[in-house]
Amino acid sequence: MNDDILSRLETLRAGDLPVRGGRTMAYVYDCGLDGIEELAAAAAARFAGVNGLDMTAFPSVVALENDVVAWAKRLLRGAGQTAGTFTGGGTESCLLAVLTAREHARRTRGVNEPELVLPSTAHAAFHKAAQLFGLRPVVVPVDPMTYKVRSDDIAAAITDDTALVVVSAPSYAHGVIDPVADVAAEAARRGVLCHVDACIGGWHLGHLRLAGRELPAFDLSVPGVTSLSVDLHKYAYTAKGASVLLFRDAELRRYGWFAHASWPGCPVGSTTLQGTRSAAPLAAAWAVLERIGTDGYKDLAQRVHHATAALAAGIAAIDGIRLLARPEASLIALAAADPCVDPFVVGDEMRAMGWYLQPQPAFGGSPANLHLTVTAAAADEETVRLLLEALEKAVAAARALGPARVDPALVEAAARLDPDRLTAEDADLALELAGVGADGALPERMAPVLAVFQALPPRLGERLLAEVVGRLYNS
Ligand SMILES: *Cc1c(COP(=O)(O)O)cnc(C)c1O
Repeated sequence: MNDDILSRLETLRAGDLPVRGGRTMAYVYDCGLDGIEELAAAAAARFAGVNGLDMTAFPSVVALENDVVAWAKRLLRGAGQTAGTFTGGGTESCLLAVLTAREHARRTRGVNEPELVLPSTAHAAFHKAAQLFGLRPVVVPVDPMTYKVRSDDIAAAITDDTALVVVSAPSYAHGVIDPVADVAAEAARRGVLCHVDACIGGWHLGHLRLAGRELPAFDLSVPGVTSLSVDLHKYAYTAKGASVLLFRDAELRRYGWFAHASWPGCPVGSTTLQGTRSAAPLAAAWAVLERIGTDGYKDLAQRVHHATAALAAGIAAIDGIRLLARPEASLIALAAADPCVDPFVVGDEMRAMGWYLQPQPAFGGSPANLHLTVTAAAADEETVRLLLEALEKAVAAARALGPARVDPALVEAAARLDPDRLTAEDADLALELAGVGADGALPERMAPVLAVFQALPPRLGERLLAEVVGRLYNS
């Protein structure tokens, strides 16, 4: 009976991208070490029924969370009073950082129309936070050559209503580290909080520093940095649903908490956005941290560092493509160096050869490109060689095929659509022209769809994205 059910689940999984082996270069993180996944699964199974909602009923949750947070605090150089929270992922950490800053600004500075100052390269999670918690996003463009925000531009965007300034270490799209020290100093000078989004890079960069590499300071040791997020389900290679949010001190952390005793049920005191909270990701994270250990992470970080450098050099040497920015962590963005090469066609060719590189549509001054998250499973010489070999073939094929074309008449017609008043027929037609199925299914080759998407005004693209999601989730 169980076997039948599990085998049906396995069948469903067969259509997914692989989560192990390093060839899926977004969404998944594989350390490539034996036994880690099994350990995480066994630890998670033992805690799957434990509810982190009530820490007095389940003291094990408190012990595990204190251990994991203390680890992050040591690594990212918090001071004695630094305090943290374990959350369900990077987005939840970013949401809580913004919520905490909003409440801090309201209660200590009387700010009632709070603003969130962030670089154009900041993660989408901050826009979600602004939308959910009613802050006005003040988006600061980045340097068009380096894709880093300039501290002067941030300074000019800070007003009396600024609740929080955000910087990335590194940014997801370009893999570069914003000038954290300069921005944090500026924020401090104006009495404003400053969050470092080290969701993807914190664990990797922290261990690279421990291994002796010189890095720009990006962590809590930087004066003016008041909070920092670091995901464990990325470069700590733990099971999904694990992140840590650190605050300068316990008093600041408290502004984001919720307590309610004015109802007939059990009094609720909660530190995150969830109610009932599975302890499984926390237990899995604790177990994986114990198992890999500081020396293990230093080794993994060094290997990823070398592989990223080798890949970057190899990509720069392939005719027809180029690095969009100099990688400063473990992320690479590659763009076309020749109008005959469409990066998204390169992506389709790579996918056909068993590699997933993530398409990043053109935005602002950032051209269409492919994103590579380099994890330890892809960090051996052989995998690097195979990837570069495949890439060279993919670029040659893309050159021969030519760029995906968009019918200009279609774009013109689409531009006349009002995203706020889109009828069902308009949406049907727009998606059909883009090559999306009536059931929301996307074609195997994505370059033509992405070409249409890129040509649309962003608001219309966002509206159509919701339409696709609605068709996929049709129950
Ligand atoms: C992944 C990521 C996030 C969001 O994290 P999730 O775990 O996907 O919710 C935020 N910021 C950066 C820079 C990231 O890479």
